[in-house]
Amino acid sequence: METAGTYTIAVRALCEFTAKAGDLDLRFTPSPTAQEGIAGHAVVAARRADGYETEISLSGDFGPLHVRGRADGYDPRTNRLEEVKTYRGDLARMADNQRQLHWAQVKIYGYLFCSNRGLDTIKLALVYFDIASQKETRLQEEYSALDLQEYFQQQCGLFLDWARQELAHRAARDEQLKAMRFPHADFRPGQRQLAEAMYKASNRRVCLLAQAPTGIGKTVGSLFPMLKGACAHGVDKVFFLAAKTSGRQMALDAVDVIRHGAPLLPLRTLELASKSTACVNPDKACHGESCPLARGFYDRLPAARQSALDITNPPADGVAFLSLDRETLRAVALAHDVCPYYLGTELARWCDVVIGDYNYYFDLSAMLHSLTVLNDWKVSVLVDEAHNMVSRARKMYSAELEHASLRLLRKTAPPELKKPLDRVHKLWNQLEKEQDVDYKSYATLPEKFMIALQTTAAAISDYMAEHPTHHDPELQEFYFGALLFGRLGESFGDHALFDIEKTEGARASHADSLLCIRNIVPAPFLKPRFDSTHTTALFSATLSPWNYFGDMLGMPESTAWVDVESPFVAEQLSVQVASHISTRYQHRQQSLKPIAALMGEQYLRQPGNYLAFFSSFDYMEKAANAFAERYPDVPTWRQSRRMDEAERAHFLARFTLESRGIGFAVLGGSFGEGVDLPGARLIGAFVATLGLPQINPVNEQIRLRMDAIFGAGYDYTYTYPGMQKVVQAAGRVIRTQSDQGTVFLIDDRFGRPEIQALMPAWWSIDRAAVPVVSA
Ligand code: SF4
Repeated sequence: METAGTYTIAVRALCEFTAKAGDLDLRFTPSPTAQEGIAGHAVVAARRADGYETEISLSGDFGPLHVRGRADGYDPRTNRLEEVKTYRGDLARMADNQRQLHWAQVKIYGYLFCSNRGLDTIKLALVYFDIASQKETRLQEEYSALDLQEYFQQQCGLFLDWARQELAHRAARDEQLKAMRFPHADFRPGQRQLAEAMYKASNRRVCLLAQAPTGIGKTVGSLFPMLKGACAHGVDKVFFLAAKTSGRQMALDAVDVIRHGAPLLPLRTLELASKSTACVNPDKACHGESCPLARGFYDRLPAARQSALDITNPPADGVAFLSLDRETLRAVALAHDVCPYYLGTELARWCDVVIGDYNYYFDLSAMLHSLTVLNDWKVSVLVDEAHNMVSRARKMYSAELEHASLRLLRKTAPPELKKPLDRVHKLWNQLEKEQDVDYKSYATLPEKFMIALQTTAAAISDYMAEHPTHHDPELQEFYFGALLFGRLGESFGDHALFDIEKTEGARASHADSLLCIRNIVPAPFLKPRFDSTHTTALFSATLSPWNYFGDMLGMPESTAWVDVESPFVAEQLSVQVASHISTRYQHRQQSLKPIAALMGEQYLRQPGNYLAFFSSFDYMEKAANAFAERYPDVPTWRQSRRMDEAERAHFLARFTLESRGIGFAVLGGSFGEGVDLPGARLIGAFVATLGLPQINPVNEQIRLRMDAIFGAGYDYTYTYPGMQKVVQAAGRVIRTQSDQGTVFLIDDRFGRPEIQALMPAWWSIDRAAVPVVSA
């Protein structure tokens, strides 16, 4: 965190920068949970004599550096300052560089403490508390205040050049941001309205839900005002979060455009890819004995970090600046023999704009959120294509356990774990036995089962700590599943369902089922994330009704809402409702011929490229067959299940300016959003479904819960999610102000006023009935 001329840094962050050396080592070592850590600290403090001080806030300065932190405990009787670390397993196995880091921290605390209290000497202790045995191991050394001062100054000295560089960067960045002008001669229609709403939200420090149509330049229109707001309000970083890789690329492109209009702007921009994409040695493990890019990682990190930041500087001598996109980052990392993924996570601390997936800020252990809290950063967050947030966040806060995996694990698990695993298995059998239907949702969690699961997770954790070389992926997977299940169980409430679904095996000879803690309202988890930002702006072409998103995501009450005027006009799009057809499940067979006839007539009337959307692959296949039978000369192509990137590209490559034909696809799939086919590449769409989620026992439970919480069970479960998909799919047709097209909404329910109220305001439904073609 930087304020004019002063660089504030936490003790931990300072030591990680100056005193971390050697290998990156992410070998699986079960560490205590946050709760176990807090409990361990409390046990240690309770064992100390009266007068023992805990959580002592300390700070001190060195030149422009302001170092702050909190020491764990001080015993005035013995004049001992303690740093408590909880752990599991064999302490002797702790890596040397880890131990050195702990000493560095306690020595800095020691100096700050001596200087704050005017002491000449002090005993410093690292207290390692074993969670399993509750035993303490104390390593103690005595220091003079002068020695500690020397150490403090030495560590600060190692950071000073970097801090000065950061202060200079920040001053230059903010000065350029202040002077920065919008990169285009003028705003596109709607873009100014969006940009103003973003800027106001940043000024008022509130969150924003922005519904903004495609084609207005949303990415530049959101990033530009947020950067302007950043320099006006001392914001440290802007996080741009996207649901897909294509969204990240658009953000990188937008940064390029902005930088084009401000060539001297030193904006450090970083793209965070997933670990699986960034890893260059997927056959290796992340520690020095396995992966050469982890060996000596921290020794080579300083040079790699500096090179990476150097190339983000403004152009010098005509050399263009670079954003640290994943390719550039990889090249820098490999030039310095360090891991690109972990270099990326390190650079997130030093970059101004970080572009990544939603999970980097919103999931249970989100890296960007942890860094924000740890470093006390002021951040602004942009969430692109935010209509995806409800389903993505639900997944982040849900957990499943499969009985089949436990049954297999019991056969191979070490004997020491047999008893706890058997206990879980027995209680699980009992749950299955007591349930006389295939699916059931429960108001509460099964208490005994949850206790047994947590006991088992702790036993596995202890076992793994004692046997660090024992490598058993199944055991590890079960352990992580049990931990997550236990963690989500602790916060179980109205926002989630607990259900048991019996699977094939359960009805045959052996018990088998799936246990699920299913988050359905992510609001309680997300609200604190929004609260810890300066502002968060969520934007998408389909964010209505706003109360649905506000309720589901836990937007703060002060959240602003803007519905950006569309640049498109009703004359560009003919929207027609085929009310004579029902696509309800029971009418699907009868609907095939009328749908084929309607599509064929439209194609003959106006040949060109069309997309046709259906609710399922089965329905799509039948409709495509019916169409091909009646119109064999019209070219058609179909989406298939689990298409890879190349197959998806091939499907889209059929839509050219010269081609003609109909692509059959599934609503809510790969081609229902994020597909840009301007002009003659796409002149129309047929949407033969309201996109309603399937009526099944899970969705019915969700409906009941939504009714109980929000009084709008059917709409929150079926209508709103369905219509968002319809509007997204139909939105593929008009991409620019010169596009013209037709959308057929095929189902009588599209004629209902409450359904039409969920369509974009600029659409004008063609009141002339769709001609009923002889089927
Ligand atoms: S390259 Fe892959 S295996 Fe090596 S440290 Fe990086 S992520 Fe781990």
